Amino acid sequence: MSNRKLNFFAGPSVLPMDVLAELENQIGDYKDNGFSMIEASHRGPAFDTMYHECLDLFRELLGIPENYSVFFLGGGATLQFSMIPMNFLGAGQVADYCMSGTWSNKATEDAQKLGKVNLYFDGKESNYSTLPDPKTVKPSDDSAYLYLCSNETIGGIEWQDWPETGDTPLIADMSSDILSRPVPVDKFAMIYGGVQKNLGPAGATFVILRDDMLERSPKNLTAYLNYNTHAPKDGLYNTPPVFSIWGVKLVLEWIKANGGAAGMAARASRKAGLLYGAIDGLSDMFYSPVDANYRSKMNVVFRLKEESLEKQFLKEAGEQGMLGLKGHRSVGGCRASIYNSLPEEDVASLVDFMTEFARKNG
Ligand SMILES: *Cc1c(COP(=O)(O)O)cnc(C)c1O
Repeated sequence: MSNRKLNFFAGPSVLPMDVLAELENQIGDYKDNGFSMIEASHRGPAFDTMYHECLDLFRELLGIPENYSVFFLGGGATLQFSMIPMNFLGAGQVADYCMSGTWSNKATEDAQKLGKVNLYFDGKESNYSTLPDPKTVKPSDDSAYLYLCSNETIGGIEWQDWPETGDTPLIADMSSDILSRPVPVDKFAMIYGGVQKNLGPAGATFVILRDDMLERSPKNLTAYLNYNTHAPKDGLYNTPPVFSIWGVKLVLEWIKANGGAAGMAARASRKAGLLYGAIDGLSDMFYSPVDANYRSKMNVVFRLKEESLEKQFLKEAGEQGMLGLKGHRSVGGCRASIYNSLPEEDVASLVDFMTEFARKNG
């Protein structure tokens, strides 16, 4: 597929060529079963084997301890913004939230509709360009849980270290940086996210949930909204997003073959280092609007000093086959999403293009 473009979209986003080739190769006849994985019953052996291999691989790659359930749901990461407070924010308790950008802000706003929320950080004044120092973050008394978004996909800021919350459950949305680095899962009561940024085709939402959390869910929740419905059944209470999960399984195999979480972290550091190096080095043309201490290694947000050149930059990038570099409509500017699957040479090509653009227009 020689006409593949350089895909810097924020999500859904680039997938490894090996994974796309495998999907294509197996689409009509999955492993000689005579039917496709996406035509198979989710109660049958073909799906069941694939699904449990997927869950096992996820556990292995992230080092998820035994006392956590792992499953996939529908509804996107967005449904979890509601399910988390519905299940874990009891009457008389308070949940600690951080407003650090689009995604944690949405989660906060949903929680505020369902219970009492304390904001331990609000990035509004800095235009969501920075995060709190994790050492200064402390849960409230009577805190039901402390919530954060590990990587703000739109703002381009990423937690580099985690707050110590003691007995207070720590819950994180890791939609856009899951498996881009090792994570001490045992510090978290719950980690979740949509798979479409870093793990596979859109559809599934992964949930990693410490089992003792299940005791907190109120009995009056309807079936789908209660984690107790899903955890004991590995997420197979209802029909799971089969195609998405199949894609995730193949991406996990690709991650494993490329060094696992540590391999992905090394790769992300090289790619982000190259790109931020260009932004800083070509400082007459480009700048990074975010706190250097929290620069995301997945979503690199940058601006042109001369705003009027931005359109031209994006247009010429498009002509070079570089897609998805326009910043989110809510913030403007430019953003290169450089997820796990994005080839290193694509970042090198972007840097070459930026260098040439700065030379011609500087
Ligand atoms: C994309 C994204 C979401 C929303 O995911 P959906 O699956 O579209 O609901 C939530 N959080 C973060 C960090 C994201 O990047």
